[in-house]
Amino acid sequence: MDHVSHPEIREAVARLCARFPGEYWRGLDRDRIYPTEFVNALTEAGFLSVLIPEEYGGSGLGLGAATAVLEEIHRSGGNGGACHAQIYTMGCVLRHGSPEQKARYLPCVASGEIRLQAFGVTEPTAGTDTTRISTFARREGDRYIINGQKIWISRAEHSDLMVLLCRTTPREEAKRASDGMSVLLVDMREAVGNGLTIRPIRTMINHATTELFFDDLSVPAENLIGEEGRGFHYILDGMNAERILIAAECIGDGRFFLDRGSAYAKERQVFGRPIGENQGVQFPLARAHVQVSAAALMVDHATALFEADQPCGTEANMAKLLASEASWYAADQCLQIHGGFGFAEEYDIERKFRETRLYQVAPISTNLILSHVATHVLGLPKSF
Ligand SMILES: Cc1cc2nc3c(=O)[nH]c(=O)nc-3n(C[C@H](O)[C@H](O)[C@H](O)COP(=O)(O)OP(=O)(O)OC[C@H]3O[C@@H](n4cnc5c(N)ncnc54)[C@H](O)[C@@H]3O)c2cc1C
Repeated sequence: MDHVSHPEIREAVARLCARFPGEYWRGLDRDRIYPTEFVNALTEAGFLSVLIPEEYGGSGLGLGAATAVLEEIHRSGGNGGACHAQIYTMGCVLRHGSPEQKARYLPCVASGEIRLQAFGVTEPTAGTDTTRISTFARREGDRYIINGQKIWISRAEHSDLMVLLCRTTPREEAKRASDGMSVLLVDMREAVGNGLTIRPIRTMINHATTELFFDDLSVPAENLIGEEGRGFHYILDGMNAERILIAAECIGDGRFFLDRGSAYAKERQVFGRPIGENQGVQFPLARAHVQVSAAALMVDHATALFEADQPCGTEANMAKLLASEASWYAADQCLQIHGGFGFAEEYDIERKFRETRLYQVAPISTNLILSHVATHVLGLPKSF
């Protein structure tokens, strides 16, 4: 059975998404264009501010509401990647920002007047080993001067603010490798052309991802979030929400492939009968349903722990791993069931197939999750 949490939200999101059919997404995909109209519609309907407390103009709902929004977007054939970070990136300001920063930014993020949906962590030479980042913010009076490079920073061209992780103490001088990093809010409207260069990267999906170059970018010291040197811990704090929400998108993708695959298997006639009459076609769909349903339970479990303020790092990771693998299996089977038509753009299967593949790599790759489970849950020796 599909899950039924937040039925009103799901229904409203599904209604909104019906205004943005496959044709809309296909057109944008072809030319790698940002879905501005879709993002504006979600903003106006309040779906991107569900996690912002009411005192700052949001709806103050729990994470489950946001999972419902993203799952439904993906189930409809759309893609939340263009704006999902607007839902959760503000968590860094909410949890660790000063009262002034919260009052200044959160109401504008809630209204959509400010886009805070760029999140700058990954660097070309550090990869997943975040403690090796080298983008450096040097304090000079009441400013920080930033030099370095980031890669895969999504939505940088569509953000007014970016949460940026930099070193403020060189790794070798920090007490622990994870110390000495800080989070700065970068105002992209002032930064671009004044020390920040954005270079878009064309990828196999329409994801508005970019490379960033910092050359003496000057940022006011008042844009530091929390304490200097604690940034890595603040970023880690936000990762559980991100992983759970991405997992919900994968569940939506999985259900999209199941809906489409089942419908096609019933309708497509070969050898004088629907292909869905063959168990060779039924079983992969049934298996995909089992996998998506099991992964959805894990997403619900991680969400419930998150909402109850319980530790949920392992569960968030496991949910992301299971959901990304379930959606990929469903994608592969759905493509197979469509035969040659699976490759035709107009069916949207090949687009969604490409899109859902991302989530086994980002925001964290499968191997790194397995390594976390092996060492943190099973107590196996650390391999790195
Ligand atoms: C489209 C897209 C959008 C993204 N958006 C953002 C964003 O907005 N902000 C941001 O900061 N980052 C973003 N990322 C970066 C993303 O988080 C990273 O790509 C991801 O975490 C993997 O890191 P990496 O690419 O550096 O891979 P690497 O760390 O180089 O790893 C390469 C491969 O080796 C494996 N591997 C590495 N070390 C080990 C080990 N010890 N044991 C076993 N296997 C290992 C990994 O699992 C992986 O499969 C995005 C990436 C993509 C592709």
